[in-house]
Amino acid sequence: VGIDLDDVRARLLAERESTLRRIESLTGDFQDVVDATTGVATDDEHDPEGATIAFERARVTTLIDDARRRLVDIDRAINGLVDGDYLSCASCGCPIGEARLAALPWVRRCVRCAAGRR
Ligand SMILES: [Zn+2]
Repeated sequence: VGIDLDDVRARLLAERESTLRRIESLTGDFQDVVDATTGVATDDEHDPEGATIAFERARVTTLIDDARRRLVDIDRAINGLVDGDYLSCASCGCPIGEARLAALPWVRRCVRCAAGRR
């Protein structure tokens, strides 16, 4: 096996840290958007600024959701390292593949299962 699990763990912990920071900063952005809404007149639904804010809010919400999902994957991957099933697909149990794990250390499913689900 050519994969260095200590190295993987270090990468996962680093990625976890930066994902947490990303969520924190996105949550701050989201709060800015919400704060910006406070001064905006809401009596005109066709106010173009209102639409921009709604769009921005949806965009930030999506980014936060993605980051949270990533965090769950990272935690699962770290648990997998502890339990010894890190190298196996969470869906079918076959090997995820070293190249795939080297590129995306937090993925929990093999290419076939990941492609089938999305
Ligand atoms: Zn699979």
